[in-house]
Amino acid sequence: MTTSHYIAGHWVEGQGSDCISVNDPALGQPFAELMAASVSQVDQAVAAARSALPAWKSTCASERAAFLRGFAEQLGQRREALVTLQMRNSGKPRHEAEIDLDDAIATFGYYAELAEQLPSKNRTVPLAAPGFTARTRLEPVGVVGLIVPWNFPLVTSAWKLAPALAAGCTVVLKPSEVTPLIEQAYGQIADALGLPAGVLNIVNGKAETGAALSNHNGLDKLSFTGSNSVGCQVMRSASAQCRPVTLELGGKSAIVVFDDCDVDQAVEWIVAGISWNAGQMCSATSRLLVQDGIADALLQRLQAALENLRVGNPLTEEVDMGPLTSQAQWLKVASYFATAREEGLQCLAGGHALDREGWFVSPTLYTDVPKDSRLWTEEIFGPVLCARRFATEEQAIAEANDSRFGLVATVCSTDLERAERVADALEVGHVWINSVQAVFVETSWGGTKGSGIGRELGPWGLSAYQSVKHVTRCLG
Ligand code: NAD
Repeated sequence: MTTSHYIAGHWVEGQGSDCISVNDPALGQPFAELMAASVSQVDQAVAAARSALPAWKSTCASERAAFLRGFAEQLGQRREALVTLQMRNSGKPRHEAEIDLDDAIATFGYYAELAEQLPSKNRTVPLAAPGFTARTRLEPVGVVGLIVPWNFPLVTSAWKLAPALAAGCTVVLKPSEVTPLIEQAYGQIADALGLPAGVLNIVNGKAETGAALSNHNGLDKLSFTGSNSVGCQVMRSASAQCRPVTLELGGKSAIVVFDDCDVDQAVEWIVAGISWNAGQMCSATSRLLVQDGIADALLQRLQAALENLRVGNPLTEEVDMGPLTSQAQWLKVASYFATAREEGLQCLAGGHALDREGWFVSPTLYTDVPKDSRLWTEEIFGPVLCARRFATEEQAIAEANDSRFGLVATVCSTDLERAERVADALEVGHVWINSVQAVFVETSWGGTKGSGIGRELGPWGLSAYQSVKHVTRCLG
């Protein structure tokens, strides 16, 4: 049993009614358990954040920057433990677990820099009218609830925590019940750095704990990353209290491959876009649109590449892809395999769970998938790629945009003018040209349409935790 809630600077045991099992997905077995936080512990965490707010928002920005740098350094000092825990609890291959950690470190470093620049952002605003002066002040929005999913727990939490703390907000973080241990590092680091009590609080639990936080009337803002169904509930609670919300939701993203591409290179990008994190990425490029001229050759090589992926336990084998992270996700992906069989889809690779212990599925490719198939339109969140062919650029753009989601897209073409033109026409928040899943802290993250509201990362990620105040003075 693990003590896992960090409230007002203390580690406390959960007093909720849910017992949370922490699983090793490669074995399909639990290795730890913890009790969820109770609703009254969520209250305590919000109250702690509220009482810590006046002092924290008054610290000078360089002091907050020093704490953020401390987070980056301390994450680095815990490297082996954090990488191993992600391999064990998330099923990530070692190199992916390392990328996640490096991303979290870079995020804290980046927002330390932006925090240092904050004083210069408060400036005089030139007015056309005589007799007045005006100046802006960027202020923290206040106490913020942060609710995150399980697929990139270290990273998603860093993308929220670092800018929120940089802006001068105090926070209550609720990690996913599937991966409740990894973010405890942030509480341990807060302890080690002497971060003032209440600035960062962490409560673990399932839906009940999440709902207690998102419905709490002591918050000034909620930032949520997760599924569309829960995102809608979170938005309803935000609207009931008329307070701001950032939503990072699902995706069903396209990878568009034109026939001037090097086929082997394109196959590498396509495989990465659907097999990293076993396809459990909001940004998975799970809809392949390939131009007629290279379609047959590309699909043939893609089939071989997917079948050659080394799938296994990242703790004991060298693997390209691990298991799905939870049994629920494994069952969900298996249900899509069943739907594909019912719909009579043409399966070129995989299409089944692996016959071994743990929550493994085979990397999967369906071709010539009808546009109205559930596999073409719904987020599966597994290594399941659906392909269609296209003839013209216009057709590729129309099919890529024909989705209720709009998170990301990838465009592969050696004709860079065309690639840029297509990127401009795609209705998504982020486009990669001739690369895949490369996320930099300086660029924005977030989607259009059903993929969410607002942006994380870059200066936009900081603005999400700031409120603009103008002070206008009459000179007369
Ligand atoms: P989820 O919505 O089931 O859970 C997300 C978080 O919400 C968890 O912490 C969960 O405990 C909590 N929660 C559950 N019910 C709640 C409620 N009623 N009120 C408040 N909180 C509640 O999502 P998941 O299965 O953990 O994650 C997968 C989803 O997240 C996918 O749809 C994926 O696309 C999305 N995602 C999006 C991004 C992005 O940046 N757009 C990034 C990662 C994941």
